[in-house]
Amino acid sequence: MSSKRRIRRNQCGRKARHPSEAGAKVAIAKLRRAYGGAIGYLNAYKCPHCGAWHVGHARGGR
Ligand SMILES: [Zn+2]
Repeated sequence: MSSKRRIRRNQCGRKARHPSEAGAKVAIAKLRRAYGGAIGYLNAYKCPHCGAWHVGHARGGR
């Protein structure tokens, strides 16, 4: 069922927390406006550690 077993603590930690996916997407929209295309692709994911939503970079590699 779950395919992502590798979870690192730096997925949480100092990252900003958002109470909902919608809140995280609002943050992504703000970052895009601030940085333009230079920031690359961002995604919102629900944190398995704290249960909040974080914004992360999704690149080709890890
Ligand atoms: Zn977290």
